[in-house]
Amino acid sequence: MAKNVLICDDAAFMRMMIKDILSKNGYTIVGEAENGAKAVEKYEETKPDLVLMDITMPEMDGIQALKKIRETNPDACIIMCSAMGQQAMVIEAIQSGAKDFIVKPFQPERVLEAVKKVIG
Ligand SMILES: [Mg+2]
Repeated sequence: MAKNVLICDDAAFMRMMIKDILSKNGYTIVGEAENGAKAVEKYEETKPDLVLMDITMPEMDGIQALKKIRETNPDACIIMCSAMGQQAMVIEAIQSGAKDFIVKPFQPERVLEAVKKVIG
């Protein structure tokens, strides 16, 4: 059965790019969010198999959203999308339960590899 993925990034082109890579490879995109608060809301609405979560977003950043989601959904699978130079935040995210991280600019193979590793 196709796995459901929620994509969270404040940049529309990033969401589009990730959506393109994943939908071409058999994953279903169940939702998109442009900030952390929306990410939490959409997570509760769609209960996806996986979340791709940007770190830097307005209103609520990806780390806060990750923590909030995992508070009520301790089994949530979340992969962080970081930019260069965000190592400290990536470490915080992993310690808070993120399953993996990918670094921008994305290589499609690396995105798929991380997604497959986490949800198959
Ligand atoms: Mg961003």
